[in-house]
Amino acid sequence: MPPLAYRGRFAPSPTGPLHFGSLVTALASYLEARQHQGTWLVRIEDLDPLRESSTATDQILASLEAHQLRPDEPVRFQSQRSEAYQSAIDQLLSRGHAYGCACSRKELRALGGHHTAACHERRLAHPTPGQAIRFALNDDIAHWDDQLLGPQTLAVRAEVDDPVILRKEGFFAYQLAVVLDDIDQGISHIVRGSDLLDTTGQQQQIFRSFSATYPRWLHIPVILNEQGQKLSKQTHAPALNNDHAGLNLFRALKALGQQPPAHLSQGEPGRVLDWACTHWRRERVPLRPQRENDPPEH
Ligand code: GLU
Repeated sequence: MPPLAYRGRFAPSPTGPLHFGSLVTALASYLEARQHQGTWLVRIEDLDPLRESSTATDQILASLEAHQLRPDEPVRFQSQRSEAYQSAIDQLLSRGHAYGCACSRKELRALGGHHTAACHERRLAHPTPGQAIRFALNDDIAHWDDQLLGPQTLAVRAEVDDPVILRKEGFFAYQLAVVLDDIDQGISHIVRGSDLLDTTGQQQQIFRSFSATYPRWLHIPVILNEQGQKLSKQTHAPALNNDHAGLNLFRALKALGQQPPAHLSQGEPGRVLDWACTHWRRERVPLRPQRENDPPEH
């Protein structure tokens, strides 16, 4: 069999503008794809109109463009994929792989947000409107070989609740949509932040329920602020200044453990990227979370 063509992606949820942490992730996935002569895609995971905005989407896309991180195919928007997600949910329900969750808010609260085992066992195949739909995890132990972190093992159901795939409010949820789009777009390699490491076990089970082959996963360390918190909208990570795109890329390379020559900090984004495409060394990426301003630590 010929080797699988490399197809990677950067898949931000538009909860705010691109910040340094998301640039690091975007850059790592871009460089991995380029180094494998692969295809690199951008997918906007705009599933939650209550937390996300089209302004954030526009800002993210403008920022990627300013940093010359250009996808090889048109950007995909999850908000336009409802039909595919609904038909997948119908299939899962009919096969007993998903169920309507009848837990009340009170029950969920009492169990610290986890739903009752009885609900999982009942497997309501015909949810009533207003019920969340969950994917029914099985007891398998997940194993995978992360391309940076090495062999991983996770007793998925013991550690994670059955993920919601359709929210009570009627919105499709991340765990299902991300897998369906990775399958539909033929993604062979996923590079993303290590805050998503623990979702891999659940996602493997969703891949299997659609008889799809797993992609390879590579989880890169998250970037922390001065207080040791992950950079995110919640921790008020500042938006990237697109006027300093070359410098931002230079700093992102340093956070990824690469050793760009100092003069590149003044370089145009295209020059920094050219250097990075030639010199990218995955094995230099640090394994532990990095502070935004620290020299990389292995
Ligand atoms: N949309 C997710 C996020 O922004 C990332 C999805 C993924 O890379 O698997 O956190």
